[in-house]
Amino acid sequence: MIIVMQFGASQAQIDAVCEVLRSHGVEPLVLPGEDRLAIGVPAALDPGKREHLETVLGSLDGVSKITQTSSPYKLASIEFHRDRTTVRAKRASVGPGAFAVIGGPCSVESYEQFSESARVVKASGATLLRGGAFKPRTSPYSFQGLQEEGLRILKQVGDETGLATVSEVMSGEMVPLVAEFVDVLQIGARSMQNFPLLVEAGRSKKPVFLKRGPSATIDEFLLAAEYVLGQGNPNVILCERGVMPLDRSYTRNTLDLSAVPVLKEHTHLPVVIDPSHGTGVARYVPPMAKAALVAGADGVMIEMHPDPKNALSDGSQALNPAQFEALMGELRALAGFLGLRMPSLA
Ligand code: PEP
Ligand code: MN
Repeated sequence: MIIVMQFGASQAQIDAVCEVLRSHGVEPLVLPGEDRLAIGVPAALDPGKREHLETVLGSLDGVSKITQTSSPYKLASIEFHRDRTTVRAKRASVGPGAFAVIGGPCSVESYEQFSESARVVKASGATLLRGGAFKPRTSPYSFQGLQEEGLRILKQVGDETGLATVSEVMSGEMVPLVAEFVDVLQIGARSMQNFPLLVEAGRSKKPVFLKRGPSATIDEFLLAAEYVLGQGNPNVILCERGVMPLDRSYTRNTLDLSAVPVLKEHTHLPVVIDPSHGTGVARYVPPMAKAALVAGADGVMIEMHPDPKNALSDGSQALNPAQFEALMGELRALAGFLGLRMPSLA
């Protein structure tokens, strides 16, 4: 922590800051500057004490700003966990050295639609199968998902194919139910800061696929992951899926691909890109999926539907089976070029 004093702060104001620090058991380090003075806190503080000190110091006269030199998240930080995490579900894994593809429709619509999706996903070499049973829809009049019936279909198709299934859970109370039927719990962008949900997902010890909120900062995203990790659940996959766009006339969101190298620098958790929600337009999905691989992502989540025109949700961003298979071929070639594996169950 560094406390920067205002220009022209008096000696009494500087002394008051030092006094507060000493009374909390930390020895201040006064750093005279060219036009203003800073006071450093050389010791690592636990997050609770740091927050309290920040509030007390921020209210003192003569203090201009307080900056943090270490990350606010500890369990998610690569500072304290040098080995990168691999998250496993069934025979699939998401982590360093390989590029994972999670494919499938936005929503589970019927056994036939979902098992046909699974067949394409598996045949083209992807290892995880997505499909929403409980859908977070902007309008209450839109299709809300097949709910419990959707969960039963997810389980059946997951068992039949061996693919690990990924599906969204929207509330803490529903975690035990969804966890009984699916292999990976998705926490959607709209729920990224539903703290009781994060805690319940952590308690379940199931792998968690955490999507970044549309206006969440990187720190907020990693602190959300921290809630899950704090329950003793190390199995968190981070997913960037586009942030609030400046202009919705061309894309649904703005895919923040720079989040990949940024997250990789600060966290050991695997990072996946979702170009489907990131762009909202099927023809923009393949270029952004390939860019994600080159940017260093550990995988992509791609919406694919056997018949996108008749999809009950997100049809305009879904690839059809032929487009999905073509993209898989291109990703495989690129992964090979980059020395990465692309595991397959097929
Ligand atoms: C989804 O994956 O279908 C979904 C609703 O995603 P997001 O939470 O990123 O909008
Ligand atoms: Mn969707």
